Amino acid sequence: MKFLHDEGGWKWSSVHKEQLASIARATPAAMAGYAINVLLATIAFSGLIRWPALVLWTLFALAICSFVGIRSLRNRTNHRTSANGRNTSRRPARNALLFSVLLALPWSLLGTLWTGTVANSEVIIVALVVGMAASGSVLLSPIPAAAILYAATILIPLAVKCLFITLDNHLILAALALSYFMFLVGLIASNARIFAERLEAVEKLKDSFAALVSAREETERAAMTDGLTGVANRRAFMARLNTLAADRDQSPEYGVFYIDLDRFKGVNDAFGHAAGDAVLRMAASRIAKVVRDGDLVARLGGDEFAVVAQEICGRATAQALAMRLVSALCDPFFLEGQRVQIGASVGVAIAFESDSTGDQLLTQADLAMYASKSAGRNAHCVFEPDMLRSVEERQAVEQGLRSALAKNELELFFQPIQGLTKNEIAGFECLIRWRHPLRGLLPPAQFLSIADEIGMANDIGGWVIEAACAQAAKWPSDVVVGINLSPLQIASDDVAQRVERALKSSGLPANRLEIEITETSLLQNDPVTLDQLKRLKQLGVSIALDDFGTGYSSLSYLVSFPLDRIKIDRLFVSQLGRSRESDLIVRSITQLARNLNCTVVAEGIETDEQLQRLRALHVGFGQGYLLGMPMPATEATEFLASGKSKALAQSA
Ligand code: C2E
Ligand code: CA
Ligand code: CA
Repeated sequence: MKFLHDEGGWKWSSVHKEQLASIARATPAAMAGYAINVLLATIAFSGLIRWPALVLWTLFALAICSFVGIRSLRNRTNHRTSANGRNTSRRPARNALLFSVLLALPWSLLGTLWTGTVANSEVIIVALVVGMAASGSVLLSPIPAAAILYAATILIPLAVKCLFITLDNHLILAALALSYFMFLVGLIASNARIFAERLEAVEKLKDSFAALVSAREETERAAMTDGLTGVANRRAFMARLNTLAADRDQSPEYGVFYIDLDRFKGVNDAFGHAAGDAVLRMAASRIAKVVRDGDLVARLGGDEFAVVAQEICGRATAQALAMRLVSALCDPFFLEGQRVQIGASVGVAIAFESDSTGDQLLTQADLAMYASKSAGRNAHCVFEPDMLRSVEERQAVEQGLRSALAKNELELFFQPIQGLTKNEIAGFECLIRWRHPLRGLLPPAQFLSIADEIGMANDIGGWVIEAACAQAAKWPSDVVVGINLSPLQIASDDVAQRVERALKSSGLPANRLEIEITETSLLQNDPVTLDQLKRLKQLGVSIALDDFGTGYSSLSYLVSFPLDRIKIDRLFVSQLGRSRESDLIVRSITQLARNLNCTVVAEGIETDEQLQRLRALHVGFGQGYLLGMPMPATEATEFLASGKSKALAQSA
């Protein structure tokens, strides 16, 4: 009977305490019933027991039940006031044992000590005492020890007494008292077992409930945390930001900081992804150290972090925090003993300056971050409404550009390239224009970089190749056309094939086409680029190096790659006559080109003086507003005709 000895081992769980409390709650009413029973017994025995003994017994019994009743009332008030505290005392259980013996004592005495003479008084006594034993132990059954002690205190002495009294059926009475006792013990035991099982089930339920709750909390936490760095993720960040933005009255002073690590890709490429991850973790912890408690740090993805910082009430506080963030991320990182410096660009949106939603604030901070990136890295920028306007314009360009090809809005302009000795028109450079339905004729600077970003470089480039070949095929056989290929286009593996197809379908001989590439294309030493250039050369297309002198001017590729032409950037041409260095540079480039067996084109000739100097420096070809503006195909055809006639007139 584990439950009997288990009193000490019982978990003093809240359920168990609740059982004790429920007994305590029932006690005042039970004591009232107890007192009524005492008084009824007194009346029943008034003729059978001598007065002094009966009065003593009655007073004794009433004193006990009053004592127990008052104690339980007092405990109840104490219990209520200490309800919040963790009361692990075992006193209530010990009191229950004591009270059960005390309450049993009057009935035990009554059953044991009374020696009556009237036969049916025995029956009344036994009925009364057994009834009290049964009802009391049922009440006490949640505490089995108390219940059994109570029943034993009443019934065992009664049974013992019945063995010795002189009534005819005294042995039967003794046996009855004992069997009642045994029956009660059985009842209490089974009650206690059920209670213990129930308790265990409740405990188990509580445990699994707790496990469930913590699992759910863990899942929720994981869903809100960035797995790599342990800071919040985008979801958690947006949740906080939207709450703040929605509750404007409560939280007007805060700022959103968008942080993008500079040169992070380089770390990944040079040291591998594990090192990249380590840098991200270190960056997250540096950011967390810079911000205040209560600010939220999140990784939005890749190498982008964000912070929602409280008490950002003006530009000064915003800029101070932004500077701290930039400088924390500028400090070198150490990867396996190697010093790595990255840095960061930070964009700030200040909430109290605008009426924006959480999403809008993040976009504003993002735009400010881009602005700080283009202003030079390792810097910060606070959002200005102008930034949004330029983005809106950009979005409009993006949308229009997608349909520009299909709507025939793209056009090629042609700028003449002239021989500087004989003034003959050697050819044209094709320059793209977008005839925008609302904004008029747009130069390439306003849309080509966007085309690259939205993945339209090859579509537009392909169109340029075809249109240029088709136009050139209509011109005399000594006119060469040059087309510009961006680094992105030349790195795609089908550009040579496209050129070949365009040449075939237009019927233009390959030697009348020239491809202009920039130093950037060659510098990356990309195998696809080099392969495509080789194929183009094999086709018979010539290659010109554009904007020479502005890039890295690492001259090694000039030797390793067979170029046909070098185009001197207009920067040097514009300085001719103004700085001695320009003359020197133009002279050396011309000499270098001669050694490499290349021809030279001077770009951007605007004045007669520049033209004369270039002639004096023996530059072979020239291009510029002075010689001819970029013009539509029809004008270029007329220009050709008039140029030819001029040349004819000169030679005549
Ligand atoms: P670029 O290849 O250096 O082309 C020469 C640019 O200089 C042209 O600008 C031309 O209009 C301008 N220019 C010519 N002569 C003078 C002059 O005397 N003074 C001044 N200030 N400028 C002069 P544009 O047409 O705006 O083109 C700009 C750039 O866009 C080009 O520079 C070229 O890199 C790129 N581009 C043009 N068309 C295409 C194309 O079809 N595909 C690709 N990928 N890029 C193109
Ligand atoms: Ca060019
Ligand atoms: Ca150029």
